Amino acid sequence: MAYVTYSYDAPVSQSLFDRAAAVTPGGVNSPVRAFRAVGGTPRFMVSGEGPYLTDADGRDYVDLVCSWGPMILGHSHPAVIAAVQEAVGRGTSFGTPGAGEVELAEEIVARIAPVEQVRLVSSGTEATMSAIRLARGFTGRGKVIKFAGCYHGHVDALLAAAGSGVATFGLPDTPGVTGAQAGETIVLPYNDLDAVRAAFAANPGEIACVITEASPGNMGAVPPLPGFNQGLRELCTENGALYVSDEVMTGFRVSRTGWYGIDGVTPDLMTFGKVMGGGFPAAAFGGRRDVMEHLAPVGPVYQAGTLSGNPVATAAGVAQLRLLDEGAYAKLDATSLELRTMVTEALAKAGVAHQVQVAGNMFSVFFSEAPVTDYEGARAQESFRFTPFFHAMLEAGVYLPPSAFECWFVSTALDGRALERVAAALPGAARAAAEATA
Ligand SMILES: *Cc1c(COP(=O)(O)O)cnc(C)c1O
Repeated sequence: MAYVTYSYDAPVSQSLFDRAAAVTPGGVNSPVRAFRAVGGTPRFMVSGEGPYLTDADGRDYVDLVCSWGPMILGHSHPAVIAAVQEAVGRGTSFGTPGAGEVELAEEIVARIAPVEQVRLVSSGTEATMSAIRLARGFTGRGKVIKFAGCYHGHVDALLAAAGSGVATFGLPDTPGVTGAQAGETIVLPYNDLDAVRAAFAANPGEIACVITEASPGNMGAVPPLPGFNQGLRELCTENGALYVSDEVMTGFRVSRTGWYGIDGVTPDLMTFGKVMGGGFPAAAFGGRRDVMEHLAPVGPVYQAGTLSGNPVATAAGVAQLRLLDEGAYAKLDATSLELRTMVTEALAKAGVAHQVQVAGNMFSVFFSEAPVTDYEGARAQESFRFTPFFHAMLEAGVYLPPSAFECWFVSTALDGRALERVAAALPGAARAAAEATA
């Protein structure tokens, strides 16, 4: 890939990035933030208000990343900020049970029928790691099926052919993960039920669980084909394995009840994160009571966390979830549709082959002739077109995910003025994509 240097207009971000690079690997605390896939200086943000982010150089951007999903109500929502301030006023961590974590757990259990019990953790990675351990502990089996292009956090055993940063950087696999850790992971092509059937047949009585993104968003939006999740459900039941649905991204984002509310397929275990924390580190895994009761202190499977159920994080999560009613999701759906229509019009007008793929209100743009149904298809897109497209949008004040393999995220704060800015930016960006060469 040709690295172009885009260095317009961000001297304060650049100087922060230089300082950051001296003390932190690559200057970032999560790889995709570094702009490596698109080149240029990552913008250091100093504040967020409604649909806008403001960077250290004083420029503002319409935010279509929303902190990778959590800021579904936009930035600095008054009700969330008030709940956080109230909680902070009572102290920041007790290391004991607290009322806030009960409220958040009740909110999750009330919304998501398959979740009879839930355990709170601090990141999506912890949630999937713990769900896998629990599935292994419950079934007494070792092997796990995952799908290429699905990302479940940086859990050792789940980094094989993962999405998100692993997809963005095209990493073949990750040094530091041993053969023993990855060797019990069976990686299959997404949307391929025959491959799942064959894997169960080849490993009788050995597969603890199938873990899948409820609707993958970490290789771009690649929704399950009709019947795929239901087929997984049936194959897991027939083979005595647990079905683990990772809703860290889709949970409380694509509907009140996440992707479960869209396809109605009942998993044994589910994982959540992102939206449920209201912008704080809060995540969860939950599901069938008989499975969850294998966790310590009732059962033998150990799992713990010093800051799990943190009172400030749970206050933010509860405040955010309570505002997310049917009306909020209807607004998110309408805004997403409006944006998708704009993107398609601009790219079609510029003659750029593309697919706008949708999962609820999440969507992504593939520079591809054919619909993408798996990781191979996602990687085959003309991602070189994304770099100039991204920078043209950035220059025009629109903040997109800095990777062709990530979803765009909407918030309820996106208003007419913000959408007008996006509409004004798109034709130039589409032309830049059309002119791009590999
Ligand atoms: C973001 C994400 C994770 C990891 O969550 P972190 O909080 O970043 O550890 C896991 N699964 C999915 C589907 C995600 O989108």
